[in-house]
Amino acid sequence: MLIVQKYGGTSVGGLDRIESVAKRVAKTKFKGNSVVVVVSAMSGETNKLTEYARHFSKNPSKREMDILLSSGERVTASLLAIALQEMGVGAIAMTGRQAGIQTNSAHTYARIESINTDAMKRELDEGNIIIVAGFQGINKEDRVTTLGRGGSDLSAVAIAAALGADACEIYSDVDGVYTTDPRVEPRAKKLDFISYEEMLELSSLGAKVLQSRSVELAKKMGVKIVAKSSFSDNEGTIISEESDEMEEVLVSGIALDKNQARVSLREVSDRPGVAAEIFTMLAKEQINVDMIIQNASTDGTTNLGFTVPQSEMEHVERVIGQFGEDIGSVDFDENICKVSVVGVGMKSHSGVAASAFSALADANINIQMISTSEIKVSVIVDEKFGELAVRVLHEIYQLDK
Ligand code: ADP
Ligand code: ASP
Ligand code: MG
Repeated sequence: MLIVQKYGGTSVGGLDRIESVAKRVAKTKFKGNSVVVVVSAMSGETNKLTEYARHFSKNPSKREMDILLSSGERVTASLLAIALQEMGVGAIAMTGRQAGIQTNSAHTYARIESINTDAMKRELDEGNIIIVAGFQGINKEDRVTTLGRGGSDLSAVAIAAALGADACEIYSDVDGVYTTDPRVEPRAKKLDFISYEEMLELSSLGAKVLQSRSVELAKKMGVKIVAKSSFSDNEGTIISEESDEMEEVLVSGIALDKNQARVSLREVSDRPGVAAEIFTMLAKEQINVDMIIQNASTDGTTNLGFTVPQSEMEHVERVIGQFGEDIGSVDFDENICKVSVVGVGMKSHSGVAASAFSALADANINIQMISTSEIKVSVIVDEKFGELAVRVLHEIYQLDK
């Protein structure tokens, strides 16, 4: 079998951890498998490098950021290869470029366009284990790019798809996908299976156990992912196509996203096209706008509210500034969070939103904004009530049972 294994930051968080990953990888190889490993930077490293850059600039060039941040993954890839070689196991480290990963030019948030697998295949034929530095590639101009935070998951899925791997195992410090973040609700239960669709919602709504783009790609390419822990031998969670059984479950998980901010635009000119102009401009700047609320207009103006990732606040301010008199004032609220209930079963059952709202009301948690889709209900609440809201919702859907 050809197995792709990805080890995240905590799994390679220290030299002893890298040693223990080397043993795991060697064991997989000794069972007769071909193995490609994708590694993250040691935990905390990407943040530390980002802070270094911020010491010099509030708005560092993205091209340089990519060269800087991609170095973290190279450190772990080379150390893991050295550790394996010392154990007498053939291994070779590769940067994203050497592994043939071609991306577009969106620095710090690049998309993988293609993977030239020639070099990887040659090494596999030689019997070597390949250790690829995750989270990176190169664009057409030969510049280093990175794939967005958590992007090593995406590297792993893309490599598994390109090589037609038999398995794609993603290792972290939790032994699978839980009904909610086990750090927030210790009674959370591990799921044996979850559909791509639900996992995609959970990831994009804040459950960082898998990066959402990696789930999107896995769904598109039909790569079955297994999420596991590198700290134990427990069975993980399989992420795959939805089955009939899954639809019987009403709610599969609750996600919490603390990285959201609410933008309120007041006294926005109430004429056709204003909202279109504002949101077109934000989209052009690649600002990811989520929930949107517009109030009924009074005196020819209206109020508009929406949410964006906190990291985009300065960017939004700059964009909104260009609208001049069409927008009276703008303010930001960082002290909010988004809590979401996700389940494919909602497609065929009604009343989930209503019961979520009642449960939150009973707990005296005020809902500031609401958005729903076929398989999720999200609410914005005060940040200080976020974790409580997760536990309340976890309880009413009996996810601990
Ligand atoms: P890595 O650094 O290995 O990529 P991450 O930190 O990105 O790992 O993801 C693992 C973390 O995701 C866990 O420590 C856990 O706190 C968090 N998490 C959030 N939601 C969930 C969930 N539903 N199931 C499991 N873990 C979750
Ligand atoms: N090191 C990068 C990050 O922290 C990529 C990853 O770990 O997947 O976002
Ligand atoms: Mg991660």
